[in-house]
Amino acid sequence: MHEFSVISSIIELVRTEMEKARAEKVLEVHLEVGELSFLSHEALRFGFKALAEGEPKINSDALRIISVPAEVRCKKCGYSGAMKAEDDEAYHIGVPLFQCPECSGPIDVLKGRECTVRNIRMEVP
Ligand SMILES: [Zn+2]
Repeated sequence: MHEFSVISSIIELVRTEMEKARAEKVLEVHLEVGELSFLSHEALRFGFKALAEGEPKINSDALRIISVPAEVRCKKCGYSGAMKAEDDEAYHIGVPLFQCPECSGPIDVLKGRECTVRNIRMEVP
């Protein structure tokens, strides 16, 4: 499961930050997850809980997920903004189209692929 390896590197980062700050407890971890990272929020939460269980200094429900919508820019007409998603009958979900919603030209993804820790709230003595 991809989410699990993402979470273990996040726990690693949290642990390093905690040592640097000499914190006693990690209360909240704010994680930005892009729409195009295709990471399941459910699996991320589950993985965090499971790994934080073994970390007495990390609150097992500390994870806060911030969803980041995708943003693209067209290389042809200069359109920038949201992506267009096509409703796929077979999957019943919106499948993002990797092309410009205005002119169908090639696009650059500006936002939406990230999976970054934005903020960590710690208890420092
Ligand atoms: Zn365009």
